Amino acid sequence: MSAPKEQAVNEPSKVRLHPLARKALAAIEPYVPGRSTEEVQEQYRVSNVAKLGSNENPLGVSPRIREALLAVIDGVHRYPDPTSAALRRRVAARFGVTPDHVCVSNGVDNVLTCLGLAFLDAGDRCVIGAPTYTAYAALALMLNAIPVEVPVHEWRLDLPRMAGASANAKMVIVCNPNNPTGTIVRHDELEAFLRRLPATALAVVDEAYAEFVDDPAFPNTAALLGRYPNLVVLRTFSKIYGLAGLRVGYAVATPDIIDCFNRVREPFPVDRLAQAAAEATLDDEAYVRAAYENNRTERTWLAAALSDLELQSIPSQANFVLVDLGHQADDVARRLLPHGVIIRPGAMWRLPTWARITVGTADENRRVIASLRTVLAAR
Ligand SMILES: *Cc1c(COP(=O)(O)O)cnc(C)c1O
Repeated sequence: MSAPKEQAVNEPSKVRLHPLARKALAAIEPYVPGRSTEEVQEQYRVSNVAKLGSNENPLGVSPRIREALLAVIDGVHRYPDPTSAALRRRVAARFGVTPDHVCVSNGVDNVLTCLGLAFLDAGDRCVIGAPTYTAYAALALMLNAIPVEVPVHEWRLDLPRMAGASANAKMVIVCNPNNPTGTIVRHDELEAFLRRLPATALAVVDEAYAEFVDDPAFPNTAALLGRYPNLVVLRTFSKIYGLAGLRVGYAVATPDIIDCFNRVREPFPVDRLAQAAAEATLDDEAYVRAAYENNRTERTWLAAALSDLELQSIPSQANFVLVDLGHQADDVARRLLPHGVIIRPGAMWRLPTWARITVGTADENRRVIASLRTVLAAR
């Protein structure tokens, strides 16, 4: 049997919806992930791939993580700790809260699913930005809730309008820094927003990229948690901590919100290897610092290089840059693949000429710029 033909971003699924499927599924397309290294190596016969489509840590696996994984491997015939207690204690200490304020799960994606299962009834409104992380709208639709999109203003989430839309909403999701724009909302803006938010709405702040931010105005959500009981902060080990392949993310919120998570989550959402690696990476300060420094230097270089190509990009606080390629980005992304370069075209955010490029190593970034120059010149 031959492999199914690759489906383009945002193209409707070619498979007919099963007649017994829940009606909500008609409004949802299967998630289309970034291209994988293996797929591109095989299809284009290139050995060295710059994988800059999924915002992963470009520094590879830290030797300390490898050690930590080997140290627990002999225990995998046993179920893991169902509550990730040791990891929760560590994370709670960082936020200055007790462990009953933390729920760890199988990536932030799974934390979001639990949030939806715990708080979104059919017909509930869920206010989100546009463009923003696509999982939010899919989550609402899946549960027959209503995603309410508020367009960004000058590429930043429009918190005043999001607050305005939250009067009759159950949930507002603030992605900060926002994926795919890379922009942030400031502490004073977030606090003004939280002050306006009615007690009937949960404020979810997804800080998947917080560790890359260097703007001192970035919100200190740990300080806000004590004062705003409807605030839920999300963090992940997939980005700066380099554990995307192990799936660990968590929520910090009041114990009664965490209790709701615990009612809907799977019994053993985080496996033994993932728990051990996440704990070890919290001690791996050199690795995290190196990732931060590489990102800060290379993000500046990438933005300048894109500007030299006369392409407009949005100043980013995250580990990716959103850039207008001036042509169908799907097409440009496809032409980059034979060069062994993977980027993420913007169709899924309804930005068909834009693409999101992950900040890679110095080498990878020079490759993506050189390949872009070639591909754009050939048009
Ligand atoms: C990458 C990303 C996530 C996913 O995190 P996981 O912990 O890997 O599931 C969540 N939110 C945003 C905004 C992201 O970009």
